[in-house]
Amino acid sequence: MKGTNLILMGPPGGGKGTQAQSLQDKYGLIQLSTGDMLRSAVAAGTEIGKQAKAVMEAGKLVSDDILIGMIDERIDLPDCAHGFILDGFPRTLPQAEALKGLLARKGKALAAVVELQVPDELIVERITGRYHCTACGAGYHDKFKKPEVPGVCDVCGARAFARRKDDNEETVKARLSAYHDQTAPLLPYYQNEGLLKVIDGTADIAVVTRQLEQAIGAA
Ligand code: AMP
Repeated sequence: MKGTNLILMGPPGGGKGTQAQSLQDKYGLIQLSTGDMLRSAVAAGTEIGKQAKAVMEAGKLVSDDILIGMIDERIDLPDCAHGFILDGFPRTLPQAEALKGLLARKGKALAAVVELQVPDELIVERITGRYHCTACGAGYHDKFKKPEVPGVCDVCGARAFARRKDDNEETVKARLSAYHDQTAPLLPYYQNEGLLKVIDGTADIAVVTRQLEQAIGAA
């Protein structure tokens, strides 16, 4: 697994973050979530955060230039030398082309692009039910993944949870449209490159993890 670089693709709420987290914990691959990076920028009030805030709240895509610059810099940090998982990037063809160029320039390659397939009709329930621990970021769901002790984070024991501002029904619809219009064309693109692997993302979290491990040759 060392040095393996992956892309996780799939609709919002398709399980990319959950699965990337699990690969990070098990194999030390670094989860690079562009959504998390942008949320940190918004919280910190940086120039990028100011530009991204309203776009994210509307469920639209932030500009390619911002995202490409962020990933270009992030991949150069030493922790990425052990392998990374792109979660939420690339989301457009220009981002995919830029990624190809910047990886070649850095002497890095992709091992696989994995699509977690989840139909639209399951997405709204998945997204509107999710929340996270504000201390450690561990993800939970009202129905599918409750903490073992109600109100207490399984991972760090904290008792404060929050929901993402864009995890509401109206914004989810805009995010799904963005996915189908701008991101889904990347699937044939990576199929052409011989990198695409498809997994049924509707199964239980642990089952999806096992299938993902098989797809990337870890199991
Ligand atoms: P996510 O956490 O991946 O669901 O991303 C949350 C929001 O951040 C998206 O709805 C977009 O507004 C923005 N975002 C994240 N990644 C990208 C990207 N690669 N390109 C454009 N916008 C992005």
